[in-house]
Amino acid sequence: MRKSSVVRLFAAVFALGALFTAYTQFGNQPSKLNTIKLKDDLYVIHNDFVPGNTTALITNDGVLLVDDKFDIDHAGILAELKKITDKPVKYIINTHHHGDHSGGNAKFQAMDAKVVASQEAREQMVIANQPGLPDIVIEHHAHIFLGGKNVALYHYGRSHTNGDVVVLFPADRVLAAGDMYTKGDDVPELIDYSGGGSAVEWPSTLRSALQLDFDTVVPGHGPMATKQEMAAYRESTMRLVARVREMNRAKKSKVDIAMMLRTEFHWADLHLARGLNGVIEEAQ
Ligand SMILES: [Zn+2]
Repeated sequence: MRKSSVVRLFAAVFALGALFTAYTQFGNQPSKLNTIKLKDDLYVIHNDFVPGNTTALITNDGVLLVDDKFDIDHAGILAELKKITDKPVKYIINTHHHGDHSGGNAKFQAMDAKVVASQEAREQMVIANQPGLPDIVIEHHAHIFLGGKNVALYHYGRSHTNGDVVVLFPADRVLAAGDMYTKGDDVPELIDYSGGGSAVEWPSTLRSALQLDFDTVVPGHGPMATKQEMAAYRESTMRLVARVREMNRAKKSKVDIAMMLRTEFHWADLHLARGLNGVIEEAQ
């Protein structure tokens, strides 16, 4: 390893410590929420990039939410819902196990809501000792019918984690994609290998989701998007894997690959910490 590489590596390690500190501070304060109306019965309880988006389906028999942010955002979510409906929350679907999407589970369960997730997401929550474990798990596909409305859940395979579920609202032609698709830099950044994620399998998982019938996407984080934007994101996942594979074959160093991911795919320290070793190992 050249000396400049060593220096860069040390700099990266120090920056990493600072970033982890910043990251763990997310969830210590309630986020400022606002509600976006997508359809007559479908809303997004939105905030700046962290925590994740919450999608709310309103029916005569109650409310179904996709993702419930951090524990500390619970009161904020209820306050936003109160502006729209007086019906109780009956179901929460967790798109995956991360705390910025599932942190509100225990409080909603205490209000009699049932939490639904993939079997894999529940296993990850058990391992991480998270509160509010899902009451119901799905393997591949399920429907929830509430107030005469149909909500379809699909678990296709690995992407951001091994347990990512997408949720289709067929009548509204809207897909809640979770972190399988986040809208910001529009490139896959957070591949959670310790949570079963996979860059190599991500494009085929996205291809399956893109075969569903919808126009609008609620990304895991960020503003609303179109199906075309989600398809473009899939192209970026393929480009990322191809670039790492090419550099692996050219025997480039880990530091060089990290630099490429920083410059071409805007990876920050947190993303490198979670995903660098995994993607190098995987994309041979
Ligand atoms: Zn996540």
